[in-house]
Amino acid sequence: MSIQENLIKASHLIDMDDIIREGNPTLRAVGADVALPLSDEDIILGEKMLEFLRNSQDPVMSEKMGLRGGVGLAAPQLDVSKKIIACLVPKEFESEEAAEKANEAYSLATIMYNAKIVAHSVQDAALADGEGCLSVDRDVPGYVVRHARVTIDYFDRNGDKQRLKLKGYDAMVVQHEIDHTNGIMFYDRIDEANPFAIKDGMLIIE
Ligand SMILES: [Zn+2]
Repeated sequence: MSIQENLIKASHLIDMDDIIREGNPTLRAVGADVALPLSDEDIILGEKMLEFLRNSQDPVMSEKMGLRGGVGLAAPQLDVSKKIIACLVPKEFESEEAAEKANEAYSLATIMYNAKIVAHSVQDAALADGEGCLSVDRDVPGYVVRHARVTIDYFDRNGDKQRLKLKGYDAMVVQHEIDHTNGIMFYDRIDEANPFAIKDGMLIIE
């Protein structure tokens, strides 16, 4: 049975044992474009990836399953070298009251097939606290320099072509995951000589 067939079994919940770590060559490979129309296998894998992120953010499930919290996952991290990513970014609320009133808990909750950046700002941006990765079991400090704003083309889980403009934290998450489908790790984008260098005009996202 292939890795993907095992991952998409009805009874299987993706956990940390399914996630490959740095050093595995799949993380350095360019993932294959997913065939369209989408196969059931690719649709189910996308759903399982989003389910993993939901579980990883749930205090009870993450504790029970021993999951590290994550906001994004790419198929190559599961040793499946395909351009499939899932992102689940909770909205930030000023107060619990505001959170309860909101009807959408996530600023980004999506599965993307064959996602690619088709346009981007001249301005760069980086997260103030740097980045982490479920495939990297160590801290790598430094600003991960990315595009401040991006336009992404992708196919959704229904196989429909979509275009999305992103900025801020969401833009950083999606760029991190698209990088995985191209064999790029977040620390490739940290200036080795001066990890906290701020280039002219670079936006630091708190
Ligand atoms: Zn990652």
